[in-house]
Amino acid sequence: MRSRGAFRPPGAGRCFAMQADLHVHTTASDGTDSPEEVVAQAVSIGLKTLAVADHDTLEGIHPALEEGRRRNLEVIPAVELATDYSGREIHVLGYLVDIESGSLHSELAFFRRTRLERVTRMVHRLNGMGLAITLQRVLEIAGGGSVGRPHIARALVEKGFVESAEEAFGLYIGEGKPAFEPRFKYTPAQAVAVVRLAGGVAVLAHPGLSPDDGLIQELVPEGLQGIEVYHPCHTPEMVSHYLKLCRQYGLVATGGSDYHGKDHSKHNRLGACAVSRRVVEEIRLLARENREKLKAGRREPEAWS
Ligand code: AMP
Ligand code: FE
Ligand code: FE
Ligand code: ZN
Repeated sequence: MRSRGAFRPPGAGRCFAMQADLHVHTTASDGTDSPEEVVAQAVSIGLKTLAVADHDTLEGIHPALEEGRRRNLEVIPAVELATDYSGREIHVLGYLVDIESGSLHSELAFFRRTRLERVTRMVHRLNGMGLAITLQRVLEIAGGGSVGRPHIARALVEKGFVESAEEAFGLYIGEGKPAFEPRFKYTPAQAVAVVRLAGGVAVLAHPGLSPDDGLIQELVPEGLQGIEVYHPCHTPEMVSHYLKLCRQYGLVATGGSDYHGKDHSKHNRLGACAVSRRVVEEIRLLARENREKLKAGRREPEAWS
């Protein structure tokens, strides 16, 4: 993400050690732990609730729910959508979306198809630069899940073209680098609508990575219901700022580790920035109300407040 480098790395004591980690990735997208492994680890470090929020896919949800039932851990179905806001990438989280919703599945299938097309173009570019990786290998690394640049990075590391994923992004596949290709993205408001029409609770992910309070003001009337206040990349100043905005707009303050696996350069501490289970109750309440409104035929942002 373009602005990520501008933020300080997470520091000890910044995040609250609570019991609900509401932002976790699995092998269904660009995480390196399977849904079952993430759930098992969450149990072993004393978490009670975990939201599986993979990029553009719900595929990790069923296995995580099942493992959660076996191990007595509450799993919250979620998804993370990347959007474009005047050239900046903004992520929107959708909590407690209806995982059986046909329209959500086709929406996500469309996103994944555009990801595949984009990765194909990027592999061609890399090949043209003499970096011989294959699309087939990249897809194997993605394991049938939502394919993206982290999988290309791993293929480049595997072939010895770069030492690390960081280097792959820095030299070739980061935004503005020679093998970078953009992919189709919705606007943040469209992503909020996708989440709300699937009965979910739309939350702006890690706003400190691309700060823009005007965007929050814009998204509230579109149906935004929360801000991810606690995130490993947020400074204490950001946390208090976004808490204030939550109070101002009546939004729920969520948080999570954005865990992508033990070897990820930044987001490698499951349970970091976890929140209290009261937050989970708030989200559940909102989701129930959202579903009621949809059932009553209220399908436009103007009818959601
Ligand atoms: P994509 O969705 O395919 O554009 O890939 C975006 C993902 O790449 C992010 O969610 C991060 O997990 C990862 N990423 C972005 N920048 C870097 C970086 N500099 N080093 C390692 N991983 C990165
Ligand atoms: Fe990711
Ligand atoms: Fe994100
Ligand atoms: Zn994430």
